Amino acid sequence: MVFEGLADKLQQTFKKLRGRGKLSEADVNEAMREVRMALLEADVNFKVVKDFISRIKERAVGQEVMESLTPGQYVVKIVNDELTNLMGGTQSRITISSKPPTVVMLVGLQGAGKTTTAGKLAHYLKKQNKRPLLVAADIYRPAAIKQLEVLGEQLEIPVFSLGDRENPVTIAQKAIQRALAYANDIVIIDTAGRLHINEELMQELKSVKQAVKPHEILLVVDSMTGQDAVTVAENFNQQLGLDGVILTKLDGDARGGAALSIKAVTGCPIKFAGMGEKLDALEPFHPDRMASRILG
Ligand code: GDP
Repeated sequence: MVFEGLADKLQQTFKKLRGRGKLSEADVNEAMREVRMALLEADVNFKVVKDFISRIKERAVGQEVMESLTPGQYVVKIVNDELTNLMGGTQSRITISSKPPTVVMLVGLQGAGKTTTAGKLAHYLKKQNKRPLLVAADIYRPAAIKQLEVLGEQLEIPVFSLGDRENPVTIAQKAIQRALAYANDIVIIDTAGRLHINEELMQELKSVKQAVKPHEILLVVDSMTGQDAVTVAENFNQQLGLDGVILTKLDGDARGGAALSIKAVTGCPIKFAGMGEKLDALEPFHPDRMASRILG
């Protein structure tokens, strides 16, 4: 599970701190040195770590902490608060338009889990009494269309596809007409991915964005790719303007660097977490619960 290494290290550090009774500034500094190392080893962005540690030090050496009866405990609480803030503070939800359909455009690189996540998100929304329509707009990877159709069948959710002959803009526009005609209140567009970001991909995604004006553009990124995921998010955000991120494969042994850096680096909140290959393995991302998972 994600954060395992980080959680072990931080818990050891804080066990020592709690056991110490009164704290000196040197004790706090020593603990923060260990926290810094642990975060860097978890592949958290260097600048993010630096700012994080300085915020904690500032709060932790204050009088209130030093004079409290359980200063160690107090420091852990500060770290918990700051970890929560780092991941966005509170849960970020997707915007539901007051005028249906809400259009959600999923973007991302190949292999990140985009198509699977489209299915998972549709399933999640269906359970909330929505009527999603899945749209197969990845026309370059023929298997992607089939994959989405199979997912739709399993989930009993309609899939709109025009094969690979029409362009993604036309597919997306016609999908919205179909949603209006059949009262589908959420349209989830599975766009094309590539192995790497390139001009052609971005141009295509910008055209789809322009044509259908999505309420949510969500980037699907693989948490296992660590800082690469953060770079990808920065790039997509600059070019497309993201409303949020869906971080996949948090069930794997990702060190957690992506989860802890993306919001701070890009300003985009993580809205959902992929927790497995199964179609019900998508969860709203709760920064506070993630922080508690790290601190035990
Ligand atoms: P795409 O190329 O981005 O559309 O990626 P796919 O949806 O085809 O997913 C690529 C692989 O990642 C598939 O084997 C998925 O089952 C797997 N996958 C997607 N999300 C998750 C997740 O949250 N956890 C795990 N363990 N596997 C995932």
